[in-house]
Amino acid sequence: MSVNNEYRNFPMVPRVVFGKGSFNQLSSILDKKREEGAPFIYLVDDVFDKTGSLVERISLKYNDKLIFASAAEEPKTSQVDAIVADIKNEFDKLPSGIIGIGGGSVMDLAKAVSLMLTNEGSAADYQGWDLIKNKSIYHVGIPTISGTGAEVSRTCVLSGPVRKLGINSDYTTFDQVVLDPLLLEGVPKNQWFYTGMDCFIHCVESLEGTFLNDFSQSYGEKAYDLCLEVYLEDNNLTEAQKQGKLMMASWHGGMSIAYSQVGVAHAMSYGLGFVLGTKHGIGNCIVFNYLEDYYPEGVAIFKQMVEKHQVEIPTGICANLSDEQMETMINVALSLEPLWENALGKDWKSKMTREKLREMYLKM
Ligand code: NAD
Ligand code: ZN
Repeated sequence: MSVNNEYRNFPMVPRVVFGKGSFNQLSSILDKKREEGAPFIYLVDDVFDKTGSLVERISLKYNDKLIFASAAEEPKTSQVDAIVADIKNEFDKLPSGIIGIGGGSVMDLAKAVSLMLTNEGSAADYQGWDLIKNKSIYHVGIPTISGTGAEVSRTCVLSGPVRKLGINSDYTTFDQVVLDPLLLEGVPKNQWFYTGMDCFIHCVESLEGTFLNDFSQSYGEKAYDLCLEVYLEDNNLTEAQKQGKLMMASWHGGMSIAYSQVGVAHAMSYGLGFVLGTKHGIGNCIVFNYLEDYYPEGVAIFKQMVEKHQVEIPTGICANLSDEQMETMINVALSLEPLWENALGKDWKSKMTREKLREMYLKM
């Protein structure tokens, strides 16, 4: 038996509330964390600027501030830097906390802002693993769409000047999460599918990967089964019941990859995201659709889900790339070495060549 002496000691979210309407408890949770004169800053997906009702339920007190953030594009290091500079300009004290309300995009933005309020320089300086020096300020994550697992993960994915990469650190993880399935109401169907499939793909890539261990498997199998209940099985679940299950699938899927890794779909989707700006969920779906050689069972089930929900998965998006764009895409994908190693084993370089990857992208 081989024993590894370097097991990772990774952080988990220390506090979580789950339940329909639990969003109403936010105010009392925050009251206990408020420091005198120090505001809470709410970063809220701007989709709620139009619908209004969620925003009306946020009780701004004292000098608290609400900032709407767009999720039209994935968060950027420059955007994080600008928000941090504005907060520092406006207030003499560091905030009591940052509350991110939205999908993976806004939750990641909130994580990054909470880190950069206590760390010098630009967010781009910290893209990578364990580069953060100082503890972040208190931060709370409240998902309004489920699948990414951003609510549990120790990373926040940002596009920077030279790379799309997360700030991975023990301080990135939220201090508090509020899981209220009712907040998922109103998510457009295609987006519900793409983001939910991010979770399904996390499970397949974790469960089929060479890094798999009992910890990851236990969470991955649970999340996988929940995805089948929500997206495939004919059952008597109401939409509301499915929302609760999807929320927990996202959580478990995130826990599963925390202690293993994602794989081929994510590596290639990062390439699409960097060169074409394709968003994470849909990018994963575009890629996964063609990965039957790597994940035969997962891809077959994915195709059944696509069929069942009549969702369109774009094709042909790489057909007109310039050579330079294709080279960049291949570079970005291949730079994610742990993902390939998890997917294909230690000798992955002999299995995934630049030529092979180009061939695969050209099909997409
Ligand atoms: P998102 O946050 O990009 O949002 C997708 C769309 O859904 C947006 O238009 C948003 O306005 C809308 N939306 C969200 N909630 C809604 C609601 N209740 N009603 C109506 N519309 C709603 O989507 P996502 O897929 O959750 O997040 C993708 C991002 O997550 C990417 O930036 C990706 O890099 C990141 N990500 C992070 C991690 C992590 O561990 N940190 C993991 C995977 C992905
Ligand atoms: Zn993902």
